[in-house]
Amino acid sequence: MSVSDLQRLEREHLIGTYVRAPVAFVRGEGVHLWDTDGVRYLDFLSGISVTSVGHCHPAVVSAVHDQSARLMHASNLYYTEAALRLAARLAGGCLGGKVFFSNSGAEANEAALKLVRRARPGGDIVVVHGAFHGRTYGALSATPQEAKQAPFAPLVPGFVAVAPEAQAIRAAVGARTAAVLLEPVQGESGVHVLDDGVLTAARAACDEHGAALVFDEIQCGLGRTGTLWAYEHSGVVPDALTTAKALGGGLPIGALITGPRLADVLRPGDHGSTFAGGPVTAAAALAVLDILEDPDLLARVRELGDLLLAGLAQLPHVVCVRGRGLMAAVDLDVDAREIVSRALLEQRLILNATGPATVRLLPPLVVDEADVVDALGRLRELLEQVP
Ligand SMILES: *Cc1c(COP(=O)(O)O)cnc(C)c1O
Repeated sequence: MSVSDLQRLEREHLIGTYVRAPVAFVRGEGVHLWDTDGVRYLDFLSGISVTSVGHCHPAVVSAVHDQSARLMHASNLYYTEAALRLAARLAGGCLGGKVFFSNSGAEANEAALKLVRRARPGGDIVVVHGAFHGRTYGALSATPQEAKQAPFAPLVPGFVAVAPEAQAIRAAVGARTAAVLLEPVQGESGVHVLDDGVLTAARAACDEHGAALVFDEIQCGLGRTGTLWAYEHSGVVPDALTTAKALGGGLPIGALITGPRLADVLRPGDHGSTFAGGPVTAAAALAVLDILEDPDLLARVRELGDLLLAGLAQLPHVVCVRGRGLMAAVDLDVDAREIVSRALLEQRLILNATGPATVRLLPPLVVDEADVVDALGRLRELLEQVP
């Protein structure tokens, strides 16, 4: 089907919540995607930090294939091995507590919100400006952005939004606080790395008042910043973290991972999900972790991240570069949405605009140096044409 056929079907049949580029992809392999005309694109977005292991990684395809041929679903009324192996590996690899599986990032955050309210009934949840935690009602209530929240009021009560600064967080946390919820690196607001001092202050305030510190690592976790979890850069350990996006290699799976203190707060019947922790997505996630936990890959993410950030800083129209590892953004003095659109259509380079002046880059973590140089070259060629 041509793109114009697809656009007509969309207009007639899909609720119009997305703004799509006029490109339809039919195949992916590694860092590349191919459209309906067989044209190849260099993917520097990875879905949105989803296909971190590259498109159709053979180990993930094979895990999905094997598991789906044996058993696709049995429900959470019974045991399936993949989910339990995955839970042991996820919790064992970071906070050492327990795991609740979800089907998405927002749902992982919903589980975290219910958990911290269960631990401190009626308690407030402190969030920061610039945060993005998802689109469901709890996660949206934790996302203090007027344009996203206002049309859907009333929201879930008990959320307090403050500046992402140590003093502001300290002042907001008290005996009534159930949790502070933060992204160590904010993604949707345009890749803002929170200062270690902010995380340290949040940790201290939570400790003082018995509140839970929860990190949303849905975008910045799983190797994106060059460590398996973004919090490792700061040394500030949360009481729980949420993950999703890259975990399933393209399949929908998320998780809430707790430390020991919060591991047994939720009881039978408190929460649940029909699909979550299913054998196929769990098998995919186990294959993804095999790839992303590799110390050599993580070292390369740090190295190539430095190369990417340094290269971006040299480009015309770039005002400011932010990022850590292979999670990067540039502020431009020209229209970022137009640049992203032209990068796609003219340079066959996939990027994303998080705002009118900001371009975000989230390449697959399996890129090599030549791919980074290639992407920088395409972006330079485009930006040099802009007056
Ligand atoms: C994408 C994202 C979410 C929401 O995840 P969904 O799978 O879209 O529900 C939540 N938090 C952060 C930091 C994200 O980047």
